[in-house]
Amino acid sequence: MSKFWSPLTASLVPYVPGEQPKDKKYIKLNTNENPYPPSPKVLEAIRSVTNDDLRLYPDPTCDALVRKIAGYFDVAPNQVFVGNGSDEVLAFAFAAFFNPARPVVFADITYSFYKVYAEFYQLKADIIPLDEQFKLPLDEFSRRDSGGIVIPNPNAPTAMLISLDDIRTLLVQNPDQVVLIDEAYIDFGGESAAKLVKEYPNLLVVQTLSKSRSLAGLRVGWALGSEELIDGLNRVKNSFNSYTLDRLALAGAVAAFEDEAYFLETTAKVITTREAVTKELKELGFTVTDSAANFVFISHPDHAAEQLFQQLRERGVLVRYFKQPRIDQYLRVTVGTDEEMSAFTEALKEII
Ligand code: PMP
Repeated sequence: MSKFWSPLTASLVPYVPGEQPKDKKYIKLNTNENPYPPSPKVLEAIRSVTNDDLRLYPDPTCDALVRKIAGYFDVAPNQVFVGNGSDEVLAFAFAAFFNPARPVVFADITYSFYKVYAEFYQLKADIIPLDEQFKLPLDEFSRRDSGGIVIPNPNAPTAMLISLDDIRTLLVQNPDQVVLIDEAYIDFGGESAAKLVKEYPNLLVVQTLSKSRSLAGLRVGWALGSEELIDGLNRVKNSFNSYTLDRLALAGAVAAFEDEAYFLETTAKVITTREAVTKELKELGFTVTDSAANFVFISHPDHAAEQLFQQLRERGVLVRYFKQPRIDQYLRVTVGTDEEMSAFTEALKEII
């Protein structure tokens, strides 16, 4: 508490990101980064940025990237918005579309940043518990008198997917609300709702380069939606910081979409490793949810998650533990390379 803080600042409960250790001694399976490097084309494009480029402000409309993304997803450029990571795009969306008078609806358990944004913008939140199997009670989402709906697909940290049919149903049942589908992990096994944005003016799909394109360090995310939703996001952005993406990020991000073969190959490798480690974990007695993401969500009937987390840490393997009701017996483990996952399961075998 400080006398210089506004009442808002004093009231905030900020999001706590996963640990980012400074040294490299850990096998890092705690923040869902991709174990493979980005396409070599990305660094090549960043290296081609010149001193003169850096002297000048970047393009505030991010036109080259917006066009690239529009072409990739087969939508019009005015249906694309880009930001510094999907976290920033989400923050703009909460400001642009949700109304303090009517609650924004999301699940418990879900990506914990949504609650932070709701508090930051002083919105009401209507938080719907997942069912016993961690499934989203979708009927419940439509039954609420909401000001908007936010769903990550697959969900985090459960890794579980909902179908495009379910998303269509939500869109039809809530025509006056923005339905925001956060697809940070969609490329690891889901079907993107991007193809629905032409049909539903209330759909906003948010994606990122951080996961399936191995670029968490570049901070690039985007939203796809109707022209009116994208206009709303631009109004917020241009009332906050009109130069969102810097020139290095813009150059690298465009190149990230120019190496489809590399993207498909690394994504397939992560999926193969996920399936292998899932099988092994089940053999070790773990419950593993059906993952469509680049992480697995696991629990062991005889071993407390917090202890497993600590004991793995002592053996140099960093995973994510959530001290949070309902999931405090679970660990979230990012899918690394085959070698990293072997080191993880070998460490587990020593512990359990
Ligand atoms: N959405 C979900 C569900 C996530 O798990 C994350 C990663 N923490 C993000 C969005 C944000 O990703 P980024 O800002 O790196 O694009």
